[in-house]
Amino acid sequence: MPAQTPADTPADTPARNRRILLARRPCGVPVPDDFRQVEEAVPTAGDGEILVRNRLLSVDPAIRGWLDDKESYFPPIQLGALINAIVIGTVVESRVPGYAPGDIVTGFGGWEDYSRLTPSPIVSKLDPAPDVPLSRYLSALGPTGLTAHVGLHVIAPVRAGETVVVSAAAGAVGSIAVQIGRLRGCRVVGIAGGADKCRWLVETLGVGAAIDRHDPTPLDDALKAHCPAGIDVYFDNVGGATLDTILGHMNIGGRIATCGMIADYNAAEPYGVKNLWQLVVKRLNMRGFLTYDHEDALPAARRDLGQWVAQGALISTEEVVDGLDNTVATFLRLFTGSHSGKLLVRP
Ligand code: NAP
Repeated sequence: MPAQTPADTPADTPARNRRILLARRPCGVPVPDDFRQVEEAVPTAGDGEILVRNRLLSVDPAIRGWLDDKESYFPPIQLGALINAIVIGTVVESRVPGYAPGDIVTGFGGWEDYSRLTPSPIVSKLDPAPDVPLSRYLSALGPTGLTAHVGLHVIAPVRAGETVVVSAAAGAVGSIAVQIGRLRGCRVVGIAGGADKCRWLVETLGVGAAIDRHDPTPLDDALKAHCPAGIDVYFDNVGGATLDTILGHMNIGGRIATCGMIADYNAAEPYGVKNLWQLVVKRLNMRGFLTYDHEDALPAARRDLGQWVAQGALISTEEVVDGLDNTVATFLRLFTGSHSGKLLVRP
């Protein structure tokens, strides 16, 4: 049985609703003063809504993009508004048939103790297995695992025997992606920040080789050493100079799943990629994606991920930080890379 996390204890029900709001738009890497915590009365559910006591809050790099006043796939968070995030919560009040107090729900709420949610394709009931920590449903068994699966099956499908490179390989999505590549019979090379993460990738997650992005050896040389037959699939979490260098190592007919570009998220000017001509030279397919656009692929992804986790073939790593007060500091760790696996907060 997996170790229980603090998230498995019964949700308490505080008398006030603490919420984290956007105080000002960050300039570069966000700092604590860009956010403001307030305390309000606990809301009640409106018509067609449920009120949930949040038990887990997700901290995601994507939230950084929503803090800017720029067009994206999600509207910018307004100044003074709640920081939106995926949550798992327990229903405490329901004005929706089929939802009752005590039900566990996951969906798009925010960094707060209580969220009012409207059931939709992205807000739904969760039926957690009694022996599985809730945190796993925001990691391998949730959006994180689905993203890695869609990337390597729909966007840049992998074939056994191929060489697959994953950046931010020790992070939430990356740590699942490297294992999926290995389970599909590929030789996987992970790029991560730091010797400890690289050791973990090789010794625990079973990648063929790991490259420390902080090592003074140029990435170009490291790729020559670790991918002597070139790269067939690149699962890109970072963009920037890493992408630029990798383009020069892709094999003919290679595929790139553009999952994210965290190297640019805090940059005043995005990195200018110089090697795009390689798309033509190597006839590459480079494609960006948002996981939930690929609804048709999600049932198979859920089945695979569920089986792999149940069999112990796929390790899901989660770090649950206690306390809503620690949410901003936990979010900021995404940009220093001082974590492995999925970072979560229990408010
Ligand atoms: P994560 O990998 O757990 O955390 C981010 C990691 O990125 C850090 O641990 C750090 O790892 C690395 N990093 C931070 N700043 C960097 C920089 N300036 N240059 C290079 N690497 C840097 O986060 P995640 O939640 O799994 O997200 C990974 C990527 O997937 C993000 O780009 C995110 O936006 C994207 N994403 C996309 C979708 C989708 O549907 N398309 C869904 C979820 C996530 P190291 O220090 O170890 O390198």
